[in-house]
Amino acid sequence: MSGTADHPLLGDALGILDDLVAFPSVALTPNVDLIGWVVDRLDGVASDVRLSHDPTGTKANLFATIGPAVDGGIMLAGHSDVVPVDPGDWTTPPFEADHCDGRVYGRGTADMKGFVACVLAHAPRWAALDLERPIHVALTYDEEDGFHGAPVLIESLSDAPRPAAAIVGEPTGLQVIGAHKGCYEYTTTVTGMDGHSSRPAEAVSAVHHATRWIGELLGLAGDLAERAPAGSRFKPAHTTTNVGTIAGGMARCTVAPGCSFEWEMRPVQGSDAGFVKTRMAEVEERLLAEMRTVHPGAGFVTEVVCEIDGLEWDEDSPAIALMRSLLGGDPEVGVVAYGTEAGLYQTAGIPSVVWGPGDIGVAHRPDEYVEVADLAACLSILGRLPGHLAAG
Ligand SMILES: [Zn+2]
Repeated sequence: MSGTADHPLLGDALGILDDLVAFPSVALTPNVDLIGWVVDRLDGVASDVRLSHDPTGTKANLFATIGPAVDGGIMLAGHSDVVPVDPGDWTTPPFEADHCDGRVYGRGTADMKGFVACVLAHAPRWAALDLERPIHVALTYDEEDGFHGAPVLIESLSDAPRPAAAIVGEPTGLQVIGAHKGCYEYTTTVTGMDGHSSRPAEAVSAVHHATRWIGELLGLAGDLAERAPAGSRFKPAHTTTNVGTIAGGMARCTVAPGCSFEWEMRPVQGSDAGFVKTRMAEVEERLLAEMRTVHPGAGFVTEVVCEIDGLEWDEDSPAIALMRSLLGGDPEVGVVAYGTEAGLYQTAGIPSVVWGPGDIGVAHRPDEYVEVADLAACLSILGRLPGHLAAG
């Protein structure tokens, strides 16, 4: 390591990253070993560590405080889980960090254990300082499968010191990201009643009613385009919907008794999600009234797969102000298409940005890696944090 890829804590961060990668913390599998390892590292470093668990107790979120337990600190947030691997697709074993050509290869190196390693490398030094406001370390479970951990973490923080801002260290190539769309995903199942196709009025076609419902959903496109916030930075600028799969029916000559479809919306603002839900509830009520004149058991059931809040653009966000002051100058603040936990934190009242080492383009793929130079740069920027926490 030489040139730009250098920082006094780089060796520590790389060692920590090796250890983190060695935990095969695939989403939906237990992560308590990894969290326990982090708790051990923070022993004597954090002034407070609180864990919150999933109902099985095999998965945990961590929220640690370094410095005084007061409001106004900075939260450095990551997720502990990674996406699954097919080891056959990898050049080297995915859960063994491989250092090669200025990069560290391994599942999670970019998304997002590299950032977590940088934070943990700094933690002992931060603890030795006389911080007036705290630095918090947040680590969640099951982010990669519908963001299950973050809401539990947020719930557990009701009596915790309230951070003034959060940096969510997803791999942005160290570009500041100030906004992303939300992602709301659903499965809707329509129950009708079968019958002979020659006598459709004596049956209730689930397929026909599903397509009418879908037609109404797609018909909202114009309204959603009109609702686009002025100066929206997204492409497209407005909330979109998509029906991704549909399945139903039995045969050409039979009225379909059942149909289900998977759909989503990508809201640019929380109010759009409410708008779509309200309108579709009205549609559903109208369709159901018709369906139930023939078959009282007819119905629509919509299951929520996930409802991930977007990170809404806020020019006056304290989190963006923090990044501007950490980075100096007038760094460009971008928007991205993918979802992160930053939207959930913002909704919970913690202004957030997304900023971290690594390239989202290599995340979720075989031979995922992070550049060592990115880790060194991340360490250097994080090293400026205490300077922002010394005075009130
Ligand atoms: Zn991630």
